[in-house]
Amino acid sequence: MEVVCHGTPLPDAFEAYKAELEQKYGARLISFRFRDKRTGWQQYSVTAVFENGAEYSAPQDQDPYMKLFLHNLILRERCYDCRHKRHSAADLTIGDFWGLKHYAPELNDDKGVTLAIVRTKAGKQLLDQASGLALRPVTLAGMERYNPCLISSVIRPSARDQITSRLFETPIEELARQFIARPGFVARQKARLRRLLRG
Ligand code: SF4
Repeated sequence: MEVVCHGTPLPDAFEAYKAELEQKYGARLISFRFRDKRTGWQQYSVTAVFENGAEYSAPQDQDPYMKLFLHNLILRERCYDCRHKRHSAADLTIGDFWGLKHYAPELNDDKGVTLAIVRTKAGKQLLDQASGLALRPVTLAGMERYNPCLISSVIRPSARDQITSRLFETPIEELARQFIARPGFVARQKARLRRLLRG
């Protein structure tokens, strides 16, 4: 079985963030949830627990480490040209189904819905053995549309090397602030450019 994969962060990026959190909370990190679904499947959180009982939690769109990950700025080199895309050797592929609202919105309880691609007889047997599933048919094209990581690697941002070379020197929060445009920033820049072109 394989899992649809967006990519994996560089170990150094996590080590840098871990060191920063430990310094900020004054204790050793004992648990880190990359995707804590207690706040929902779609609006999940990043959660860290420390040896002194302190806890950090932030929505995925506010945690700087997650923001760098989601913008593909701290992925491992091989993730930008992943040979597993389109060349699956698995019997069954599973992953979050992000196209849910277009195909079966009635199933959305914000706890997560899985896509499953049966690739072999063994994969079919595996799926048949699972009981209590509410299955809905979805075309492969539909799955690929809303889960592009099924077939293609993410684009390597030009700023990726600048960021990874500054890990441990510049705080993760500062890197996210410098390299990720704030909401509305791009739209404002485009509007400004249009005004300039109009003269
Ligand atoms: S190389 Fe491919 S399968 Fe491996 S972590 Fe990166 S994206 Fe995922």
